[in-house]
Parts: sequence; C-alpha cells; structure tokens
Amino acid sequence: MQHRAGESKETVFSPDLQVKPADARRPSFAPLPIGSEDVRSKIRWIDRWVSEYQWASSRHETQPMSRLQMADRDSSTRGEVSPVMGRLNGKVAVVTGASSGIGEATVRALSGEGAAVVAGARRRERLEKLVEGVTRDGGNAIAVECDVTDEEQAHALVDRAIEEFGRIDVLVNNAGVMLLSKVEKGLSEEWRRMFDVNVLGLLYATDAAIEAMKRQGGGHIVNVSSVAGRKTRPTVGVYSGTKFAVNAVSEALRQEVLEDGIRVTVVEPGAVATELTDHITDEEVRAGLKQRSIEPLQPEDIADAVAYAVGQPQRVSVNEILIRPTQQTN
Ligand code: NDP
Repeated sequence: MQHRAGESKETVFSPDLQVKPADARRPSFAPLPIGSEDVRSKIRWIDRWVSEYQWASSRHETQPMSRLQMADRDSSTRGEVSPVMGRLNGKVAVVTGASSGIGEATVRALSGEGAAVVAGARRRERLEKLVEGVTRDGGNAIAVECDVTDEEQAHALVDRAIEEFGRIDVLVNNAGVMLLSKVEKGLSEEWRRMFDVNVLGLLYATDAAIEAMKRQGGGHIVNVSSVAGRKTRPTVGVYSGTKFAVNAVSEALRQEVLEDGIRVTVVEPGAVATELTDHITDEEVRAGLKQRSIEPLQPEDIADAVAYAVGQPQRVSVNEILIRPTQQTN
C-alpha cells in the first residue's frame, strides 16, 4: 500500500500470507499503513487476512500454492486489496448449472461476496461469457465444461476447484431439468434425464465434495430443490419425484456430515423466470404454462438466498429456504 502525500503514516500489523514451506505456521507481518481512505474497507481487509491466516496456518507446510493463494500473495506484495470484499472472502465455491438462470445469478452473487467460483455446465460459451463479466467486476471465477450426469466429469469439476484454488468451501448443486408431462405420455427418456441430472448428478458432485470438505474440516452443500419437492400436481409427478428425492437426500446428508462441520441447505424456489420451461416438449403443458399470469421470481432472488445461507457463521445451519413469488398459490 503506497502512501499519498498528507496521509497518516500510522500502521497496524497484518499477516503476510506468502507462506514459506519451512515457516508456514509463522508468517511474517507486513505493515499496513492506515491513510485517510475508507477505514471500514481497511477493517474488512484485516478481517480477511486474519481468516486467511488461520486457514493458511492449518495447511500442510509443503503443499504448493494454489491460484487463490498466489493471487492473495500477489495482492499482498503489491499492497492492494482485492476489489471484491464480502462475507465469502477467501472461500471457494463450485456452482453446477451455471450457464443460465439461477446458477448464473448464483455465480455472480457468490463472487460479489468475495468467493472464488468454479462455474460448471455443458455450454462452455455461456460460461466463458459469465466469467468475463465476473472478472470485469473484479471477481475471480473460472469456467469448467461439465455434464453432471457423467460421474467422472462431476468429480473432475470439484477436483478442478482444488487444483485451481486449493479447496472447496461451498458446492451449489443447481443443475436441473424440468420436463413436465402426464405420466400416461410415457416419455421415459425424459424421466431418465430428469433423474440423471436432478438426482444422480447432484449425488456425484456431492460425493466428490464431501471427501474434500471432510479433509478440510468443513464446508457447505446447497441443493437447489423446488416447491415441487414438497408437493405435486398433474404433469409435475416425475419432476416432483426428483425434487422429493433431493429433499430426502439432503436431510439424510445433513445428519450424516454435521459432525464433520459440513452444513447442508435446501433451497426450494417457486416459479422463477429462467430457461427451465423452454425444454418442455409436451405441447399441452407448454400451453398451460403460457396462461400463468403471476409475476415470477428473478434468478437473483434465489441467488441472494443462497448467498445468505452460505454467508452465515459456522454455528448457523440454514436447513431449508422456501421462496415463492408473492402471488403463487401452491
Ligand atoms: P435453467 O434452464 O436456466 O438452468 C438449468 C441449468 O442446468 C443450466 O445452466 C444447464 O446448463 C444446467 N444443466 C442441465 N443439464 C445439465 C447437465 N447434464 N450437466 C450440467 N448442467 C446441466 O433453469 P433454472 O435456473 O431455473 O434451474 C436451476 C435449478 O433451479 C434447477 O435445479 C431447477 O429444477 C430449479 N428450480 C427452478 C425453478 C424455476 O421456476 N425456474 C423453480 C424451482 C426449482 P447446460 O445446458 O449448459 O448444461
């Protein structure tokens, strides 16, 4: 941090995270001059380094520096703070289904809170555009092409977070498809796709993340379910079945991993204005949807809820968030 003429030269001591292999537990302390700039942002800066320091201190001494650590080291060397400061500074998040709708908004929201984000989905171009925007806003994100129905790809997505950023604190299992139709239509390929993406894809990514989170001593898994995970109606049966499964898996998982410091949150949106309904092939259902006249939620409304849940202190486990548009009855 450079002094400008006329600024105070008062200093406080902040941890320098340029962790040296032989001295990882005793970082040196570089002076942080306090000038006449915004004091609150400096306090946040200090908070961030303290939490980073605690984390760095708990790491194995010979581990190579991750991209996140290197970015931090570089910014500390230059004496600059990261332009994005928030509740998730120093955290690393993976978001599936990040190429549109709720996933895309969630990447922006988590990045806006200071997390480094790995954005996964099949449409690479969409992801790259998203990452460009995040980077322009001063955030840190990477795009990873991933089909969550492929177990290896789902594991590779989580592994990529660890390779690039050294850890995974948050997994948002958001990828999903909703192919509504009456059961009697027998659209078995669509039933399979829904269970593959909404349930198995979520399980594959979760499996990969839990292993890493247990090693780290904690983490947070957010599963995007639906109002349809609580109740059902005609044409929604199979989709509902996948979301009931998401809720059941999430609650069991919550109980299984709480001793490991891993929190589990289920988010259950009502109608949100996204591309989700574009993929419905049943004309009858499509026509019915067009008649809906309520004002839907926006993807950002759900992304804010995710950011709220993961931004809580470790003692707080937000288990379930149900969010409907104000005018939605069921
Ligand atoms: P979108 O269609 O906009 O987003 C769905 C995302 O899932 C896309 O990014 C898509 O990316 C991804 N996806 C689909 N298949 C796969 C796959 N095989 N592998 C990886 N990613 C995949 O819809 P929403 O944002 O609305 O949906 C997000 C979640 O919210 C879903 O789980 C949905 O069930 C849930 N939800 C949505 C509601 C709504 O009204 N919109 C209401 C309740 C819940 P790509 O095609 O690039 O792979």
